[in-house]
Amino acid sequence: MDHSSFLIKYAEIAIKGKNRYVFEDALMKQMRYALKKVEGDFEITKTQGRVHVDCLGSFDYDEVIGALSRVFGITGICPVVRVPDEGFDRLSEDVIKYISDEYPDRNKTFKVNCRRARKNYPLDSQEVNMEMGGRILDAFPEMKVDVHDPDILLTIEIRDDNIYIYSKIIPGPGGMPVGTGGKAMLLLSGGIDSPVAGYMIAKRGVRIDAVYFHAPPYTSERAKQKVMDLARLVSRYAGPITLHVINFTDIQLEIYEKCPHDELTIIMRRYMMRIAEDIARKNDCLGLITGESIGQVASQTMQSLAATNEVCTMPVYRPLIGFDKNEIIKISEKIDTFETSILPYEDCCTIFVAKHPVTKPNVNIIRRSENNLAETIDELYRKAIETDEVIVVS
Ligand code: ATP
Ligand code: MG
Repeated sequence: MDHSSFLIKYAEIAIKGKNRYVFEDALMKQMRYALKKVEGDFEITKTQGRVHVDCLGSFDYDEVIGALSRVFGITGICPVVRVPDEGFDRLSEDVIKYISDEYPDRNKTFKVNCRRARKNYPLDSQEVNMEMGGRILDAFPEMKVDVHDPDILLTIEIRDDNIYIYSKIIPGPGGMPVGTGGKAMLLLSGGIDSPVAGYMIAKRGVRIDAVYFHAPPYTSERAKQKVMDLARLVSRYAGPITLHVINFTDIQLEIYEKCPHDELTIIMRRYMMRIAEDIARKNDCLGLITGESIGQVASQTMQSLAATNEVCTMPVYRPLIGFDKNEIIKISEKIDTFETSILPYEDCCTIFVAKHPVTKPNVNIIRRSENNLAETIDELYRKAIETDEVIVVS
């Protein structure tokens, strides 16, 4: 029997009281976005606090499941068989066919769970449970009823138009629907960590903009393309991402020329944060996101993070702060960014790295070094902001 409908389960958002509709609407919007790329005609509806996807015509089952598995807020996807209401005898034939298709091994316990949205159905839900249970036992004597902990909870939902039969739940990604939590600016490099960081904050319902600091000719067009590809992969979860590409070369060269080389990375990171915050404010973002994790590299010790953080007044979200690299890699594999992240195009940090970077920078000393830039930096900063190339990735 063909699955022609999907019932969407969502737990966390259902507890939001009277804001519930805001969450459901955002969920449905994200579902539409996810399904736009799947061939077929889909109708997404909300009835009595439940969201359904009805597929009109032919579609690819795996692609639909794949797309819905990337919509935050969904905890479960139930593939549903939809049958017309042509009397109880016909319904029980359909149910028996459903069980025989879905459960080749029928050494299982079951329970029938009828939900009657259409109240004028000739039997009430208890009667459907009893009667259908009996017919299933007649058809499959090896099956047994267990009302407390059944292997198969067979739901029969009688709705106005059709009857829906389902029993399986495919886990969804959880989280909150994107669009319910404001917007944040992701500092997106070509590495492994920052795409994962963006994914994790989007999972809490936050829309993502991104900024990439590009240093041509020290970083290639291919490195920029790689960042665009990563943004596109994250957008499969986060929705469309507005990516700002900033030409950072002149600032970087100036730092290289005027500041102690063991402080290059920290000072460069501070300018990235300053510019990111500027762009974030202009684009209504409520925070910054980075892929930093304590101790991963010299620029991510507690002292280095303090020095980097000092230039920002916006909250900086670092969702990977307590993660080991292998834990981050696992997520990047799950969300399909890993293979792109490990492509070997240099990012701007690797060109200007010192042999022995400071691992415990002192903020006062860093500020003093930045004074060496006093004469030129305002102009370079202004020019860098002007290079902002805006690319919408979806
Ligand atoms: P990633 O794997 O995300 O590149 P990383 O381990 O290489 O991280 P760093 O290079 O120290 O770490 O960068 C720390 C964070 O700073 C990154 O996670 C990212 O958020 C941001 N960042 C670094 N380089 C850039 C860049 N060129 N453009 C935008 N953001 C950057
Ligand atoms: Mg990096």
